[in-house]
Amino acid sequence: MQCPFCESEQLKVLESRSADDGGSMRRRRECLECEQRFTTYERVEFSPMIVTKRSNSKEVYSRDKLISSIVRSCSKSEISALTIDNIVDVVETQMYKEFGREIPSTALGGMVMAQLKIREPMAYIRYASIFKNFNSVSEFLEEIQNLDDKRVNQELLV
Ligand SMILES: [Zn+2]
Repeated sequence: MQCPFCESEQLKVLESRSADDGGSMRRRRECLECEQRFTTYERVEFSPMIVTKRSNSKEVYSRDKLISSIVRSCSKSEISALTIDNIVDVVETQMYKEFGREIPSTALGGMVMAQLKIREPMAYIRYASIFKNFNSVSEFLEEIQNLDDKRVNQELLV
């Protein structure tokens, strides 16, 4: 660490405290050379996740991109930004835990679908139709049929 004013490495920490969110540390420092004071922050950095596509090409995981893909599939149903955020939070936690650094795009899509299926069946169908690339109308209808069966079962259980 260097002083941003004179580049000296002779620094003194005046005060350390956790920032409000608890995920970062804030330190007030003073340069022993030029006596200027400044603040530094420390926070956990997550290694970027790599998404492997079906074509075998790779790209860095992007939360924004995942959110846009869900927003596209949900555009006509009523789903709040908060719900989408929750879905992405669940998916991100799951993917870091189960896949570490690299996840196949099919697995990522599958996790999103599992969440949509519980919360937003219509958005699920739309997402699945794009994601699974249904080859025929019957495949698509079959998926809807499966969904209906499960919902009926759920209703019976309640
Ligand atoms: Zn300095």
